[in-house]
Amino acid sequence: MKILCIGRNYADHISELNNERPSEPVIFLKPDTAILKDNEPFYHPDFSNDIHHEVEIVLKINKVGKNIDAKFAHKYYDEIGIGIDFTARDLQSKLKEKGLPWEKAKAFNDSAPISGFVSKLQFDDLQHLNFHLQVNENIVQKGNTEMMLWNFDEIIAEISKYFTLKTGDLIFTGTPAGVGKVMIGDRLTAFIEGKEMMSFEVK
Ligand code: MG
Repeated sequence: MKILCIGRNYADHISELNNERPSEPVIFLKPDTAILKDNEPFYHPDFSNDIHHEVEIVLKINKVGKNIDAKFAHKYYDEIGIGIDFTARDLQSKLKEKGLPWEKAKAFNDSAPISGFVSKLQFDDLQHLNFHLQVNENIVQKGNTEMMLWNFDEIIAEISKYFTLKTGDLIFTGTPAGVGKVMIGDRLTAFIEGKEMMSFEVK
């Protein structure tokens, strides 16, 4: 399986990093070794002093498809979850400056903690889905999918032009504002519509 991620999909996050608003979705990948699940702790790597949390809604692909029309994209996922797109912001800034690929900053081991997945039918409206991230006792990121530049179906259409989607692939759909550094000892807890989905410690 593979993990596809969308960057710069929430306007408020684009402005907090002073990034340019993209004219098409920014797409990058993480390998399966990035997955961290079952609330296992995240061990802070030594190569970065600025690992940021980015909380994101994650789609789980349920069948093979390519060149999927946005109209039919909803048929390609029936479960959603929540995840963290951990980003070594210090490394990423250096790589971006030099025009180099982001993998070391985005795709390292355990850089994609994920919750369990639940049926999308549990939610009334995927276009207005609330989610948030708490670090220790503080809510640090709050998003609603209505703030996305590209919605789930448009994301699937765009990704599948370039990458054949297969059963079990995951799509990280972008982060809202409020990204920030994690510290050893922090506990990260992520919620969809107020329901706790995942909670793990940084060690
Ligand atoms: Mg992200």
